[in-house]
Amino acid sequence: MPIDATQPYDDQNVFARILRGEIPSRRVYEDDYAVAFHDIAPVAPVHILVVPRGAYVSWDDFSARGSAEEIAGFVRAIGHVAREHELVAPGYRLLANIGGDAGQEVPHLHVHLFGGRPLGPMLA
Ligand code: C5P
Repeated sequence: MPIDATQPYDDQNVFARILRGEIPSRRVYEDDYAVAFHDIAPVAPVHILVVPRGAYVSWDDFSARGSAEEIAGFVRAIGHVAREHELVAPGYRLLANIGGDAGQEVPHLHVHLFGGRPLGPMLA
């Protein structure tokens, strides 16, 4: 069920629980600002989710309330994961679903990183 991205942050959401280690995940990277783990239902050979450690529902929320350090750290983490998985030369795709029209299911900001095969045209 897509979420309302303007809702207050719910600290019981599944990614908050993954960040706290209450639910298992296959982590591929973590630092002070971000955690990255394999999506539980991958749609590409590489399908990783990168989430900021902070309590943000949406890109809007993060860009409005996040510190410059947090935002830079999150962006750097995404780049790091792409390099670590040798995706820079072949290419990869980043996607963030925000709110109902985009079909965001989990109310904690996350960026999908897809790669490992030609991904085809971007469908809006
Ligand atoms: O962008 P959206 O909110 O729709 O994506 C949520 C993603 O989180 C889905 O791709 C889903 O497979 C993934 N997920 C996960 N582990 C969970 C719950 C959801 O990887 N425990």
